[in-house]
Amino acid sequence: MSQAEDIESVDEDGVIESVSGPVVTATDLDARMNDVVYVGDEGLMGEVIEIEGNLTTIQVYEETSGVGPGEPVQNTGEPLSVDLGPGMMDSIYDGVQRPLDVLEDKMGTAFLDRGVDAPGIDLEKQWEFEPTVEEGDAVEPGDAVGVVEETVTIDHKVMVPPDYEGGEVTSIESGEFTVEETVAELSSGEEIQMHQEWPVREARPAGDKETPTEPLVTGQRVQDGLFPLAKGGTAAIPGPFGSGKTVTQQQLAKWSDADIVVYIGCGERGNEMTEVIEDFPELPDPQTGNPLMARTCLIANTSNMPVAARESCIYTGITIAEYYRDMGYDVALMADSTSRWAEAMREISSRLEEMPGEEGYPAYLAAALSEFYERAGKFQLINGGEGSISVVGAVSPPGGDFSEPVTQNTLRIVKTFWALDADLAERRHFPSINWNESYSLYKDQLDPWWESNVAGDWAETRQWAVDVLDEEDELQEIVQLVGKDALPEDQQLTLEVARYLREAWLQQNALHDVDTYCEPEKTYRMLGAIKTFNDEAFDALEAGVPPEEITDVDAAPQLNRMGTAEEWDEFIDEIENDLKEQLRALY
Ligand code: ADP
Repeated sequence: MSQAEDIESVDEDGVIESVSGPVVTATDLDARMNDVVYVGDEGLMGEVIEIEGNLTTIQVYEETSGVGPGEPVQNTGEPLSVDLGPGMMDSIYDGVQRPLDVLEDKMGTAFLDRGVDAPGIDLEKQWEFEPTVEEGDAVEPGDAVGVVEETVTIDHKVMVPPDYEGGEVTSIESGEFTVEETVAELSSGEEIQMHQEWPVREARPAGDKETPTEPLVTGQRVQDGLFPLAKGGTAAIPGPFGSGKTVTQQQLAKWSDADIVVYIGCGERGNEMTEVIEDFPELPDPQTGNPLMARTCLIANTSNMPVAARESCIYTGITIAEYYRDMGYDVALMADSTSRWAEAMREISSRLEEMPGEEGYPAYLAAALSEFYERAGKFQLINGGEGSISVVGAVSPPGGDFSEPVTQNTLRIVKTFWALDADLAERRHFPSINWNESYSLYKDQLDPWWESNVAGDWAETRQWAVDVLDEEDELQEIVQLVGKDALPEDQQLTLEVARYLREAWLQQNALHDVDTYCEPEKTYRMLGAIKTFNDEAFDALEAGVPPEEITDVDAAPQLNRMGTAEEWDEFIDEIENDLKEQLRALY
């Protein structure tokens, strides 16, 4: 959050009239909607959310205990904005972009005091600026004028801000600069610094959205293989407590092939976020071998932090994502969990005594959710380039009941749905993504990518797996009534193939060094090995071999070891050969 530098220029201070949790009203405040204000003697940061005559309502981003009527309210005259510039990667922020490590240093404790502020990016640090245009070149909004190495992984493009006019470059040079120093001057009189501010509630301008045709490769078999997400797509992960939402989100943050990851820990328990904060800085990026944090920005807003800051953290995160998108990057944003965000909206709405909608959520819940997911997409940029934001929101429906308003409203918007299942989690089938309930509407548009980059029969092989799993689902009902042995022999075999699909392919252990990430080629070949088993087994059956003998061959259980096999290519070759040999030997 940017410091309000010119509080002095605003002369009209208001006075607190009432305080109700995070909601404060003030009189005599000269303010506009969404202005940032400083509340009370301690100067707690807040935002104007309602104005009625002389009465202004403010949501306060810090604890308000001890704040009382009569204390002053100062308006900064600025909307809630983020500071955008080099230094955001490898940072950990709270919901209003205060860097947690800087605050911690300031205060000497992880428990943030109130009224403490710090700029979102380091104003003193010198960055090595390398121009990419020359004097005399014409530049327009969104164009890059130069680049700084933000981290070992990320080149940070210094762009003409979208609200500038642009013009000819009249002066530019390489050298060391702080983010506030001017690195280029334009004929329009405009000066370009390495940082810019942007109001969080307003999407950064972009051109048209394009149809996404590339998958966000996640390295997770069930997601890449059955329910793929597009780069620029939207996905939701609903699931009850303990079903694996956080692990799934973290797997995506670690392994997906996005250039930039913005991870929002929104209202989850503090210890879960601590895990992320401690874990991530240690992890290497599988694509580059560099630290994972070199392409990651964490926004932490745990359940013990004030509720209003939880409302804002989603907007802070998506604005940061848009800024990197504008550089032409593919950004992935994870929000864990959007339910906690919706609950923050509900709490503030009820303090405002607004007319409640379904289950007490504000009537604008659906609009707020769709506004957020709407900021995802594969975009044409205002500078003519392309960039994308993929958004993955976890949803934690109370009691795992998917009919509640947040899940239902999210379902109407997102195009990929990874439904986590408490029963699967209980049986230790992870990721507990239910293959009957989940879906991806991107499947068809992504198939050409998989087919030209991984295997020509990708879609066909997937369809085979889907059909087997569907058939298993139907057969299960009969099995429950009459037992497996009453089934015809071919159906018994199908059940065995489906079991390998579930146990050897869909299950994937996030905690295993090798299995945690599965490249698309391996996902494809593992499925191919199970299909080889299927084809060879049915040939044997046709030749008169009894099913028990078929399922008993030594090579079959080896299928379960494919996921954890490091030299998987050779391992799978071997299994396929053994399966053929052993099954053909039976007849
Ligand atoms: P939630 O966020 O839905 O409450 P978590 O993500 O914390 O649930 O998952 C609960 C537990 O389930 C984890 O601590 C882990 O032991 C297990 N788990 C979840 N997903 C996986 C996975 N992909 N591989 C292995 N274990 C998993």
